[in-house]
Amino acid sequence: MTAVAFLRPEFVESFPPAMERGVLYVSIPYATCGHLCACDCGQEVVTPLSPAQWALTYNGQDVSLYPSIGNWALPCRSHYWIREGRVRWSRRYTAREIADNRARDQRDLQEHLGERVPGPIARLCRRLRP
Ligand SMILES: [Zn+2]
Repeated sequence: MTAVAFLRPEFVESFPPAMERGVLYVSIPYATCGHLCACDCGQEVVTPLSPAQWALTYNGQDVSLYPSIGNWALPCRSHYWIREGRVRWSRRYTAREIADNRARDQRDLQEHLGERVPGPIARLCRRLRP
């Protein structure tokens, strides 16, 4: 296994059944990106694009994703940035840092969804209001 150093963007509607190594699939209709883990472990990494998740920058040639890709759920636990197509490796996080990060991501996502989709309590409160 050799780590992938570069990811070239491919704009698609939906992901192919088998992703190709070294390609970053970008689906605007589904606001999602996908690629095979840059450590070459063969796992698919899906990064949804949203204000609370990932942001994509396309300079007309290469893409960047923000923030970093932290594959905490994969056995490899790789952590890297994609900057203008180049894979920049980041240090491995400790178990504690991973837990903190996951909790923060979850919170951000809940807040983001909360803005658009009122939760059951918010809906109930509205209904009970005169
Ligand atoms: Zn990996």
